[in-house]
Amino acid sequence: MKYQISCPRCGCSQASAPDTSYDWDEIHCEDCGEFLDTCGLHEDRHTGSYALRALNMSRSLILQMARENESLNDTVMQRQSA
Ligand SMILES: [Zn+2]
Repeated sequence: MKYQISCPRCGCSQASAPDTSYDWDEIHCEDCGEFLDTCGLHEDRHTGSYALRALNMSRSLILQMARENESLNDTVMQRQSA
């Protein structure tokens, strides 16, 4: 199975994975053998069900909010200890 993924290491855009194409099969650069993706993740990203994308987006939003809260708490704690 061939894929068109540009390799961050050598810039080659030919990648291949085993013909079995299980979700967990790895896609490697044909030139340098760099690991690029797994079949499952690649499929999700490109055929991309909306639900999955929404889930990923909300997950990163939650992480972002958690980080912001954390830094807010840090500031409050610093003020209290000062
Ligand atoms: Zn490469």
